[in-house]
Amino acid sequence: KTFDELDLIAPLKRAIADEKYTTPTPIQAQTIPAALEGRDVLGCAQTGTGKTAAFALPILNEIGGEHRKAAPNRPLVLVLAPTRELAIQIGESFATYGKHLRLRQVLVYGGVSQGNQVRALNRGAHILVATPGRLIDLMDQGHIDLRQLEMFVLDEADRMLDMGFLPALRRIISELPNRRQSLFFSATMPPKITELSQSLLRDPVTVNV
Ligand code: AMP
Repeated sequence: KTFDELDLIAPLKRAIADEKYTTPTPIQAQTIPAALEGRDVLGCAQTGTGKTAAFALPILNEIGGEHRKAAPNRPLVLVLAPTRELAIQIGESFATYGKHLRLRQVLVYGGVSQGNQVRALNRGAHILVATPGRLIDLMDQGHIDLRQLEMFVLDEADRMLDMGFLPALRRIISELPNRRQSLFFSATMPPKITELSQSLLRDPVTVNV
């Protein structure tokens, strides 16, 4: 299968061609069609497998349509990552694949002052990429409202567990709207991660690479 056979909008196909990608990786070949159908996905994949594009492309396809261009006050998409480095990488991927779309993304992570992040949030964003601790701080201060969320991604869930983020994740998940699409990625599936995925996902397509 080639990228041309996937049902992606033209601005995404152009960005993929710009990157010189020809063939979807196995995780992409399985995740993208399921996500485009609106299904939840449970992906068991390491970094380096192309999992970022596996979630970024269907998200951009969904929210990149002509009908919504102004940056909304409340994000439509939340991507949670365990570390600031990974959050930044994910942000770069969204920027690369979304470069022919007019979408705004905001990154929030700890270890830096909040001011710039709050100002960026106040300008509105389609996509919010966050680490759990800073996200909760900003939610508690009323700077982030997740009630308009349509799509949710949890990346490197097992690493989040190792870093002690499980209570933070449960809290964040409890504030998500019930009507949403969720994509869940983890390199390993220990029992606590399986449990978390079951509490989060509705009838998921499971992808193992
Ligand atoms: P990731 O696993 O998301 O960190 O991606 C690993 C690397 O693979 C990144 O540098 C991507 O730019 C690259 N990549 C992702 N998808 C493809 C693809 N279909 N063809 C070639 N390279 C890709």
